[in-house]
Amino acid sequence: MADQAFVTLATTDKYARGAMVLGKSLRNHNTTRKLVVLICSQVSQPCRSVLMKIFDEVRVVDVLDSGDTAHLAMMKRPDLGVTFTKLHCWNLTNYSKCVFMDADTLVLSNIDDLFDREELSAAPDPGWPDCFNTGVFVFRPSVQTFKQLLHYCTEHGSFDGGDQGVLNGYFSDWATADISKHLPFIYNLSSIAVYTYLPAFKHYGSNAKVVHFLGQTKPWSYTFDPRTKQLSGQEATAHHTFLLDWWTLYSSAVVPMLQEQYVDQPFDSGCVEFQYSDIMTFESGKEEVAASYAQALEPQLSSEERKQKWEQGQADYMGTDSFDNIKRKLDSFLK
Ligand code: UDP
Ligand code: MN
Repeated sequence: MADQAFVTLATTDKYARGAMVLGKSLRNHNTTRKLVVLICSQVSQPCRSVLMKIFDEVRVVDVLDSGDTAHLAMMKRPDLGVTFTKLHCWNLTNYSKCVFMDADTLVLSNIDDLFDREELSAAPDPGWPDCFNTGVFVFRPSVQTFKQLLHYCTEHGSFDGGDQGVLNGYFSDWATADISKHLPFIYNLSSIAVYTYLPAFKHYGSNAKVVHFLGQTKPWSYTFDPRTKQLSGQEATAHHTFLLDWWTLYSSAVVPMLQEQYVDQPFDSGCVEFQYSDIMTFESGKEEVAASYAQALEPQLSSEERKQKWEQGQADYMGTDSFDNIKRKLDSFLK
């Protein structure tokens, strides 16, 4: 399995947070495949260090340094900057088969069976189901395909201005040629579909394996209070539980890693910080505050999942460690 990998992309520190959560979610569901993240030079050093802890390979890609074909394509179509960067995944020729996943996706159960599929396998786009959504797709790295994709880009552009337009143009027989290349929608459940077909979501939503926070507002666009489980500006909707899943994993598993890297440098985690005054309102002392904080951070598992974990004797990944972290933080406050 060493020649197969999950691949994501993060050109900025914001998207890098998404990649960290995605990587953690793949690990939590015991993937046997390698994890690779493509980043650009503007991703900061602390974020790179965290990515290096989560991923097997962190590869810096820069379209402008990557040889003539890519450079020329970029000069001709500067509007397609991030799109070109995503196409770089075809250059990962040290792997025979890969699954690309957007940095705004979250894995809810093991999806290693995706590697049984062939290039180009993807799930339908909820907006136009004869197009595939490029948030999750199976592909075979090949320098030749990369060059052909760049050529396609420069000649035809992208009908939607992004990678999805290019890839649907290039793999244009996806809708009709081979049904085995149609991934079930549960491998790329766009959060948007929750609203457009609510009865279907109620009926099938619990089978979701990957949720995709497609659209302008990303999970990291909110702020989160781990104690109250409140997201700023977010009403309680069906989609809300997926956002909470994301934030629960981010605040318990990723924020401590970021904190370790930033040391004393200020950084905005997006989580509401503990206020000294909050602590003082708890009469029974710091243990209770820590306990209530830890309780708020408990993972949002379904009762079936919780039962399974219990039966497998698996310690919950947000339990003791995050509790210790919180306690350390409290101790430092109360010194
Ligand atoms: N991306 C990135 N930096 C950007 C925009 C996009 O790294 O500034 C990457 C990231 O992996 C992201 C993917 O490209 O998940 C596709 O973009 P996005 O998810 O924002 O598009 P949507 O799924 O909302 O159409
Ligand atoms: Mn996306």
